[in-house]
Amino acid sequence: MDVEQFRKAGYLAIDRICEYHHSLQERSVLSTVKPGYLKDHIPLAPPEEGEDFQVIADDYQKYIIPGLTHWQHPSFFAYFPAACTFEGILGDLYSSSITNPGFNWTSSPACTELETIVMDWAANLLGLSSAFSHTSGVGGGVIQTSASDSVLAVVVAARTRYLKDHPNTNLEDLVIYTTTQTHSVGSKAALILGLQLRSIEVKAEDEFSLREDALRNALQDDAKIGRKPFILIATIGSTSSGAVDNLADIREVVQDYPYLWVHVDAAWAGVALSCPEFRSVLHLQDINAFVNSICVNFHKWGLVNFDCSALWVRDRKKLTEALDITPIFLRTKQGDAGVVVDYRNWHLGLGRRFRSLKVWFVLRSYGVKGFQNHIRKSIVLTQKFTSLVNASDELSLVTRPSLALAVFRVVPKREGENQVTFSTESLNNLNRDVFARLSARRDIMLTQTSLNGIFCIRFAVGATRTNEGHIQDAYNIIVEEAKSALKTWKSALETCDQASNEVVAVI
Ligand SMILES: *Cc1c(COP(=O)(O)O)cnc(C)c1O
Repeated sequence: MDVEQFRKAGYLAIDRICEYHHSLQERSVLSTVKPGYLKDHIPLAPPEEGEDFQVIADDYQKYIIPGLTHWQHPSFFAYFPAACTFEGILGDLYSSSITNPGFNWTSSPACTELETIVMDWAANLLGLSSAFSHTSGVGGGVIQTSASDSVLAVVVAARTRYLKDHPNTNLEDLVIYTTTQTHSVGSKAALILGLQLRSIEVKAEDEFSLREDALRNALQDDAKIGRKPFILIATIGSTSSGAVDNLADIREVVQDYPYLWVHVDAAWAGVALSCPEFRSVLHLQDINAFVNSICVNFHKWGLVNFDCSALWVRDRKKLTEALDITPIFLRTKQGDAGVVVDYRNWHLGLGRRFRSLKVWFVLRSYGVKGFQNHIRKSIVLTQKFTSLVNASDELSLVTRPSLALAVFRVVPKREGENQVTFSTESLNNLNRDVFARLSARRDIMLTQTSLNGIFCIRFAVGATRTNEGHIQDAYNIIVEEAKSALKTWKSALETCDQASNEVVAVI
């Protein structure tokens, strides 16, 4: 392809992307293809002779788009939002045009310098203490591929720090702490690094938040048997229910355990720190006071196209001491002098994409106010959904809604009383059926979860085009499916007169 052909194909691509976004609303959220569908359309080997690009571009429309789940669809309420903005697309386009592995300062000074500046911008946007900024000269931020990579990098850093101060530690005694609500990032890190993991049980009564006693008891238990917990992965906004670990409690406990590195996984909820009114529920003060590292995915609810996981550390030396490998061919004058950041020592790989460009484009084009409006709008829409649920005869919230996430289930209310009188098992069966019915539809997408044995359905808001109408439609669809499921299940539901044996978080 020469420059003129690229110009033509590029204009067509932009036109088609605009058309895709324009028509998104009329498409169904989920695709109807069957597993293996693509094999029927794409040969097993690449073509011997190069093909005309127009044919290739048309095949994208014909075969790829029909196999997509449309995460940007306004009726996508599954998993978590996956940001997509035109500014982000353009950032990726420019970045791609100069493909540059940016592993150290010299390999492209602009890539490193823009990343340090926008990570300081982002820290500022979220209200993080200047200790986490590059300007502090001690802390700093780095863009990682995912929250999982961020956890892996900090676990390695925490392990190195611990072993440096406790050189006689038996590696088998090291333990990573998580809770029963921590994302699988914790277990994955343990698996990859061959470390033990302790998942501390958190309770529905505490809204699935890690509290002081649970943490202290675990630490005391482990001390007795000689195990060495060296990092705690605390969560601000858990995946199942948006639960927030109590960082004030954790701060109290770690005063007695200074070798416990505290990493905050705020992959989904962290962007809500941009709005001052949510900073206190998300424990910003404690984050700023003591945590060692924090990760916030801008590629979820934060308007920056995948991938962009922001990781800040209070002491960047702890990260670079653990990950620095500088063979002779990577040495540079500036790196040796310590006057520049060499990002290859801040993550697992060597090369890295120029992702700060899209963050820069998005934050400039939206401004702080535009960013906050997006967050607030999703939360208001979620409140609209939860007020419909609260007023409904079929649905109940299972936990207190967290920002733009509501977790609910179908609980038939009896006339004149709100008390649940069905066994957990019957309700779980009923809700599995409701969820199966919802999953069979193509016009909406939701995901399931289980909270201490209670089967629930998650409703996650955040796509940029979702509006009140989509929330009302979603509610209507859910109630319609709940009603048909209830008809089938009513006879199977055994009522019992005693109060339910379930423990459900107080709403
Ligand atoms: C989404 C999410 C993750 C995983 O994020 P990746 O970037 O896909 O690794 C981890 N923790 C929480 C709380 C999340 O919401």
